[in-house]
Amino acid sequence: MKLQYIGTGAAEGFPGMFCQCDACRWARKAGGHNLKTRSCAMIDGHVLIDLSPDLYVQSLKLGLELSEIQDLVVTHTHKDHFDSFFLGLRAKDGATKLPDRKEEDNYLSVYGSSFVKAAVDKALEEEPYSNNARIRFENVKPGEWFQAGNLKLCPLKANHKNDELCYIYAVTDGTASLLYANDTGTLSEETLQMIGDLGLVFDLVSMDCARGTLPGDGHMGIRENLELKRRLEQMGCTGSETRYYLNHLSHMSGIIHDDLQSLMGPEGFTVSYDGMIVNIG
Ligand SMILES: [Zn+2]
Ligand SMILES: [Zn+2]
Ligand SMILES: [Zn+2]
Repeated sequence: MKLQYIGTGAAEGFPGMFCQCDACRWARKAGGHNLKTRSCAMIDGHVLIDLSPDLYVQSLKLGLELSEIQDLVVTHTHKDHFDSFFLGLRAKDGATKLPDRKEEDNYLSVYGSSFVKAAVDKALEEEPYSNNARIRFENVKPGEWFQAGNLKLCPLKANHKNDELCYIYAVTDGTASLLYANDTGTLSEETLQMIGDLGLVFDLVSMDCARGTLPGDGHMGIRENLELKRRLEQMGCTGSETRYYLNHLSHMSGIIHDDLQSLMGPEGFTVSYDGMIVNIG
């Protein structure tokens, strides 16, 4: 399985687009991996997790062919994860000419909660030329596996937005497996139990680290990351071969990529960066 981090920053981007706090100044000065666009990721080149508002520019920079995406898996409807304008364009007849695909097969499958369904419906309503047949929505439920291309995914309840059912996802291709865990704060005991019941030993665990050295809230910080690592190990969901990555960094944490890597490297974590490709299994 191949995971590509496309964007690895929180809602404002890092540096924040209108921000000159110390962390944003450091990030601008240091450049490179310290510059982070809004989060989304691709698995095996055709399953996209979340629709970043930066996806168009990210695709040009990273050489991604967005028309190849057949499945979109959505974690939640915060605007840094669900760009409704993009979805409207994907549904527009004139905007999606795919010569190698039959007309009836030219649709994008979208998976998410009922809240995502409402956001998809609204996006299609707002695009005056949308062809709704180009988007097929599937309402997926916590703990219930679904198939997207060669992958099986299981939504699990995140701890993020009080008025919405938000998901993190377990993903497997039958051989390799990963847990993609953002946006979320500390996972509930119920979710941890469900993860334990999956019977997987993850090859990779990707965690939200928007809070950095600050206490966790609807996002994790390093304390919560270390605790989740410990719990997963304790439950036998990870092993000596498991790799841990941090994602969704925010300027509000006050800590830039390079410094977070220095801090968390010795704890067994790698800080992800925009464009990073990780081969799993
Ligand atoms: Zn976010
Ligand atoms: Zn800032
Ligand atoms: Zn969010």
